[in-house]
Amino acid sequence: MSTLRRIATTRRPVDDREHCEMCGEPVGETHPHVVNLDSRALMCACRPCYLLFSTEGARQRYRAVPERYLTFPDFQLGPGQWEELEIPVGLAFFFANSVQERTVAFYPGPAGAAESELPLSAWGSVVALNPGLTSLAPDTEAIVIRAPGAARAVADAHLVPIDACYELVGRLRQVWRGFDGGQDARAGVQSWFARVDARSRPYRPAAPVESASSARSGPPRVPSEATVQ
Ligand SMILES: [Zn+2]
Ligand SMILES: [Zn+2]
Repeated sequence: MSTLRRIATTRRPVDDREHCEMCGEPVGETHPHVVNLDSRALMCACRPCYLLFSTEGARQRYRAVPERYLTFPDFQLGPGQWEELEIPVGLAFFFANSVQERTVAFYPGPAGAAESELPLSAWGSVVALNPGLTSLAPDTEAIVIRAPGAARAVADAHLVPIDACYELVGRLRQVWRGFDGGQDARAGVQSWFARVDARSRPYRPAAPVESASSARSGPPRVPSEATVQ
């Protein structure tokens, strides 16, 4: 909970830092980020500092935020599954907190990010239906889900870098009006998803998935991410 308050009050809506927060070297307007696992703060980094913390599985205090974006074309929610997650709005981010060893949900609101106490069994059943969601890296990536509703017939899901989530939440906080955010917040969400869609490639399992999903009827899964299109 304290983490999210910190995001709400200290994240700048626009990333305007000009120096690497690890070594002090100048960085360009677009630059990578590193998560401090103790404070959960995002730090702006130059490319060499970023690469220092990119080692997979390294047990360190800082972790580089990956730069991949994925869509899940087969994503589905069963009847009532969104309601079981107890998210009061139609959009939420889910990330694995490796320190707390649990999945945390947060969603945008007038004060920045609000945390939802996620019923773990409800999230578990979403993952069981969509095994690709387990490709999420802890602490540094998030699954963003849009629920079915007035604006969309079916749910959709993307995997995004966690700094992109903070950026959206910060922007929405600036323009939020009234109960549901109003016109400007809706436009902000739309333009953010347009950029996410433009950068995303479809998720493909790395190996054939033998799981509950294979019991469904439907086309066979593409076996390898390495397949040349
Ligand atoms: Zn640096
Ligand atoms: Zn930055």
